[in-house]
Amino acid sequence: MSDYKIETKCIQSGYEPGNGEPRVVPIYQSTTFKYSTSDQMGRLFDLEDSGYFYTRLQNPTNDAVAAKICDLEGGAAAMLTSSGQAASFYAVMNICEAGDHIVCASAIYGGTFNLYAHTIRKMGVEATFVDPDCSEEELNAAFRENTKAVFGESIANPALVVLDFEKFAKAAHAHGVPFIVDNTFATPINCRPFEWGADIVIHSTTKYMDGHASCVGGAIVDSGNFEWEAYGEKFAGLTTPDETYHGIVYTQKFGKGAYITKATAQLMRDLGSIQSPQNAFLLNLGLETLHLRVPRHCENALAVAKYLKNHEKVAWVNYPGLEGDSYYELGRKYMPKGTCGVLTFGLKGGRDASVKMMDSLKMIAIVTHVADARSCVLHPASHTHRQMNDKELLEAGVRPDLIRFSVGLENAEDIIADVKQALKSV
Ligand SMILES: *Cc1c(COP(=O)(O)O)cnc(C)c1O
Repeated sequence: MSDYKIETKCIQSGYEPGNGEPRVVPIYQSTTFKYSTSDQMGRLFDLEDSGYFYTRLQNPTNDAVAAKICDLEGGAAAMLTSSGQAASFYAVMNICEAGDHIVCASAIYGGTFNLYAHTIRKMGVEATFVDPDCSEEELNAAFRENTKAVFGESIANPALVVLDFEKFAKAAHAHGVPFIVDNTFATPINCRPFEWGADIVIHSTTKYMDGHASCVGGAIVDSGNFEWEAYGEKFAGLTTPDETYHGIVYTQKFGKGAYITKATAQLMRDLGSIQSPQNAFLLNLGLETLHLRVPRHCENALAVAKYLKNHEKVAWVNYPGLEGDSYYELGRKYMPKGTCGVLTFGLKGGRDASVKMMDSLKMIAIVTHVADARSCVLHPASHTHRQMNDKELLEAGVRPDLIRFSVGLENAEDIIADVKQALKSV
């Protein structure tokens, strides 16, 4: 981890060109890499040497961008994935196999809920969902003998619940398992989960990190802090020989890089959810301005939240950056510089009024996206979360009338003017 401040890391981390090399991280638009002897190539396949041989496993463009994200989070090792979903999947499956179990906060992204509640269940890994605001007793009661990880989102999409990191980290560590955090919404600009006890962080880089809605992508960062060998039997995949690599033991050979090396050498090798180097290049451009964009997103979102809060047709507003919000205090504690640019609200006219208002917006678009430069809205009950029943919706913190509003980087007065005229229609 470099000693630079976060703004400098956004620009400088991950890539140090040598004499005559490109100033900007270049796109290594190549599937393969050349070696002079068969033995050199063989050593790479045995994980005896580090280097590149095939882009499905590693590519220098991706590695430079992963190293930047790693430094932003203050981690020990990182990798890029093709999407946030791939990151959530790999992060868990790197340490779980059929017969295992995870504990998961119930207020999470709809796609992650599907993945953990349904898809990995078919692979034999079960998840128990807990209310993120539950008591320590309730949280501890969710653990089983076969629990291998705890998962939560720093700011839940779209419930906007701020995770009580210390409570979740404490429970995870008391049970000898790592605490995995999806830090997509807060970004490392506003929150660094490793400082609050998280062991692994994942991102959908599709959102603020890219910031321009141009590339789907993901990342996994390992703090290097979790002591896999202290719970060696539980994490045998990391602490006992891998026969597919002539019996190497990841923790012994790679130390703080063990978890990411295993995820690359096994999951990326076999499942292949690599980020394209072109996308990694664009993601890197986004990261350079992350420290400028995130505070502006937060500033604009706060202005919109205040406007909505005082509007006679608005029933409720959730924004953890707004004083009086249920998660304002947790937000102040874990992300004192700001939370995110996303807020949610509902109208007194209920679900139908919400839909009518959205249809009346002129500049702000209805888009299945959040966290990019352009303001947009979405109605989770009819879009992203439509596969959930009412009970699941409420458990995920999603009311039927909820409009998710991703406040962009336009002038705040223009954003509010569009909201104002749309509210006249209901
Ligand atoms: C979008 C999102 C994901 C999934 O990421 P993709 O890049 O769309 O696969 C995961 N977590 C959160 C919080 C998200 O907002």
